[in-house]
Amino acid sequence: MHPTDFDRTPGRPELSIVIPVYNEQANLPELRRQVAEVLPQVGADAEVILVNDGSRDESAQLISRICSEDSRFRGVHFSRNFGHQAAVAAGLRYARGRAVVVMDADLQDPPRLVLRLLERWREGYEVVYGRHSKRQREGLGKRLAAYAYYRLLRRIVKEEIPADSGDFCLMDRRVVDLLNAMPERNRYIRGLRAWVGFRQTAVEFDRPGRFAGEANYTFTKSLGLAINGMVSLSKVPLRIATYFGLMVSATSFLLAVFFVVQKLTVGFEIRGWASTVVIILFLGGVQLLTIGIIGEYISRIYDEVKQRPLYIVRALENVEEAAPPDPQLFDGPVR
Ligand code: UDP
Ligand code: MG
Repeated sequence: MHPTDFDRTPGRPELSIVIPVYNEQANLPELRRQVAEVLPQVGADAEVILVNDGSRDESAQLISRICSEDSRFRGVHFSRNFGHQAAVAAGLRYARGRAVVVMDADLQDPPRLVLRLLERWREGYEVVYGRHSKRQREGLGKRLAAYAYYRLLRRIVKEEIPADSGDFCLMDRRVVDLLNAMPERNRYIRGLRAWVGFRQTAVEFDRPGRFAGEANYTFTKSLGLAINGMVSLSKVPLRIATYFGLMVSATSFLLAVFFVVQKLTVGFEIRGWASTVVIILFLGGVQLLTIGIIGEYISRIYDEVKQRPLYIVRALENVEEAAPPDPQLFDGPVR
């Protein structure tokens, strides 16, 4: 079955483009220009969902202006900054297209590539993701870290997580519906996207630097996302904690045997202040690390049981009644 045959609900656009926006005033005009250039080439109806993730600059006003001038653009405004992943989740919720593309607002995911993603989707792939052939204009440290991280993730996660790819992708309606139906709060979209399966393929592209502005992902945020990805997709870190415990227990047992034998044969002499200190520090480190790993999982359980909404919507623009009713919607004027 061809993916486009699946859902022929009247009024459904062929394509939705979801764009999370956080303090992107310098990029929005150019983004709009490039996206508007691509839309007519889609060859069918298309909509663009700009999710304003509580920006502190003029992004909200710019989005409002774009929406009032061009009805193909829709605005979803959050009540505050909820983070990139929450913004993507909201965009996926309001997207009505038969195919949904997720891309960054800073033009690091070139809008014209949408056409290539669409081509592969029309060939029958449910998920088409962009893979960076080069990480341009990013520091050597970041490139090395990303290289090592994706390879480690692939090793410990059963599902195939494609290396060198971010959130830039096209997903079929079925995949989007599945993601929307997932109850969890901790959303690592590229992991969940891989988890659903179906036919997936990559489109290579050179990822350029930001068009303008500063990356919002600081080192700590990136590290947080990296840990999130690992913990939400895998229980291997917990297993590592167990292995540490086994290793240390085995070592101490062997040492005990060694000391007994030593006492019975050559006798025991008191020495080894340095080794004692090293052992104490080592054990302390292992214990803290292990507690930390367990804590990562417990904090996620805590987040899940609280059942708070993923995000709060302050206002919507150009979103008609046809959009799904959203209990998380708190209506109000745009700032
Ligand atoms: N973003 C967001 N909320 C945030 C941080 C970022 O919606 O709290 C958006 C941002 O506007 C951009 C995308 O997420 O469209 C990627 O952010 P960024 O360019 O800072 O990340 P990087 O490209 O360095 O991974
Ligand atoms: Mg970026």
